[in-house]
Amino acid sequence: GFKLGIVGLPNVGKSTLFNALIQTAKAEVANYPFCTIEPNVGVVEVPDERPQIIAQREGAARVVPAVIEFVDIAGLVKNASKGEGLGNQFLAHIREVDAIALVLRCFEDEDIAHVEGTVDPVRDAEIVELELIAKDLETVEKRLARVDKPARSGDKAARKEVEHLKALRTILEAAEPIRKHTEELSSETLDYAEKVLFLLTLKPVLYIANIGESDLPEGKANLKTLKKKAEEEAIPLVCVCAELEAQLAELSQEEQIEMLAAYGLKESGLTKVIREGYRLLDLVTFFTVNEKEARAWTVPQGTPVVKAAGKIHSDMERGFIAAEVINFKDYLEVTSLSEARQKGRLRLEGRDYLIQDGDIVYIRFKA
Ligand code: GDP
Repeated sequence: GFKLGIVGLPNVGKSTLFNALIQTAKAEVANYPFCTIEPNVGVVEVPDERPQIIAQREGAARVVPAVIEFVDIAGLVKNASKGEGLGNQFLAHIREVDAIALVLRCFEDEDIAHVEGTVDPVRDAEIVELELIAKDLETVEKRLARVDKPARSGDKAARKEVEHLKALRTILEAAEPIRKHTEELSSETLDYAEKVLFLLTLKPVLYIANIGESDLPEGKANLKTLKKKAEEEAIPLVCVCAELEAQLAELSQEEQIEMLAAYGLKESGLTKVIREGYRLLDLVTFFTVNEKEARAWTVPQGTPVVKAAGKIHSDMERGFIAAEVINFKDYLEVTSLSEARQKGRLRLEGRDYLIQDGDIVYIRFKA
């Protein structure tokens, strides 16, 4: 699974959305020993009917879906990087996530105060962005101050660092996020920014526009303006209504579909957020099945099957011999894996085979 941090100014609907998403698809956490269990983290099942179908056909006792972790990151306000509000605490949480979902308030409601006085999602996005840039700049400056002296006295590693830091500082000083300028930086500088400095503005961003219930499904003028900004910056945008999501979370699946249809919507906000999250992080899902369980796994696009095997069990990576693979689409043309095997539809793949979305994989390995 991966971690999506939910970020935004106060009173934009973060908690409402976070709680609704978790209630809708709360995962049985015992199945996922690698997940973080903290009050601000919700482990959510990825909606996907494929593992269910595989389990039914193969007679697996249970289904273990892929999961995604949502992290509720509260406390971001204007000047948080300078210690306003809860100050810097939230920033530590942001460092842990794989991507940032920025919740932007588009709904109007006179009873719910806006910290900046008016509803303006574009301005809010800019405030948050500037906070993250300010924090990254602080990180870079602090490090520069530390390595400056050894660099001057000829330390080669320190000199290299100064080079990276200055390149990063130039971008941040222009009030720009690093992720928009990756092409101007060397791969070493980028690696350094990500793995040594953990810069926040390197993380991929997704906008979640929280629109009012009465503005569904199209939203108002402020959504149009936000969409334009998102397009210009190549940031994916998902529209949700947090209040509606909260109501949906209380309903059965059939009732949910009816209610969505009543608002002219095809799918829930959760489905949309997860799909865009997968796309943003370039993730694919593969499956394993035995008599105990049919299980979905998430890996980045371009993962060799031997590495994917390592996610299942380290022995499988170490003793990897080969993988039997059939894609879910081809699997639907037979009735079971054993029929696929008989008909020669299971492909035998070596360690360098790149996992494709929907692959059903059986690893042969030496224990
Ligand atoms: P947070 O501070 O960003 O976590 O915001 P909350 O989720 O606590 O929401 C702040 C207030 O806005 C609460 O009273 C919510 O009920 C309300 N709210 C959230 N989403 C919507 C929405 O889509 N429409 C309306 N009218 N109110 C909302």
